[in-house]
Amino acid sequence: MVTESDIIHGLRALGLNTSSRVIVHSSLSSFGHVEGGARAVCQALLSTGATLLLPAASGKMTGIPAPPGLLRPWNAVIAASTWPEFDEAVSRAVPFSKQLPIDKELGNIPETIRRFFPHLRSHHPLMSYLALGPYAQHLIDAQRLDWPLGPLEALAEQHGSVLLLGVSHTVNTAIHLSEQHLGRSRFYRYAKMADQIWMELPNIPGDSHRFDSIEPALRPATREVMIGPCRARLIPIQEVLAAAEQLILANPAALLCDNPNCRCFAALHQRLEVLAAQGKSK
Ligand SMILES: [Zn+2]
Repeated sequence: MVTESDIIHGLRALGLNTSSRVIVHSSLSSFGHVEGGARAVCQALLSTGATLLLPAASGKMTGIPAPPGLLRPWNAVIAASTWPEFDEAVSRAVPFSKQLPIDKELGNIPETIRRFFPHLRSHHPLMSYLALGPYAQHLIDAQRLDWPLGPLEALAEQHGSVLLLGVSHTVNTAIHLSEQHLGRSRFYRYAKMADQIWMELPNIPGDSHRFDSIEPALRPATREVMIGPCRARLIPIQEVLAAAEQLILANPAALLCDNPNCRCFAALHQRLEVLAAQGKSK
């Protein structure tokens, strides 16, 4: 049985304090049985006094397929085959609001914060974030509809860190920021904004299922403790960005799979087009 004070103790051992700014990626079940459940984990995170940023995407409800015929290069998107099919998807989707639940794949902890703790939430219909603590407003303000990963960029400027609670780098969104800085993994996606109104949103990242291969490169910069059965890790975000950049500069296909049916393949080709354009301009 893990208690709130065990979690506070573990987070403090990682170095979290009132001057810390972290993006939290988490798995509640990684803690085994927590006395007080998800709320105790959230309370422990807040007790450190750190500024917390949490993913709060609700694309499962707001997302729609691409409209028929809208074919951007290397966009790897599911498109509706007819307009009636598209219109039906739009009517089925729910427009974004700050009250929408967070996608289940992001775990219980962000949704518990949304339901029970005072927070700020950004308004991107596919990739919103929650933030709490002294620098919350600054992180939330850094997101734009055309630049969804802005809060991670702001976190890097503030020398923030990535906190992985029982999860691997396959959920480490900061790696997408390095990809996007190099022109890779920049997809266009579609969301419902209001009744009968939809929008195309640029710079939505792609797949991350191979991101754990960054782990050896980050080992020297990683602090790690066990909180009960949960492997808790803290890595400076600038180290994550630098390691990802270095890997991609050395190999455009780094951190991607080689399945031509995966979005990884389209992401790679976006990067290759950037390299080809740079080659031409020299
Ligand atoms: Zn893939």
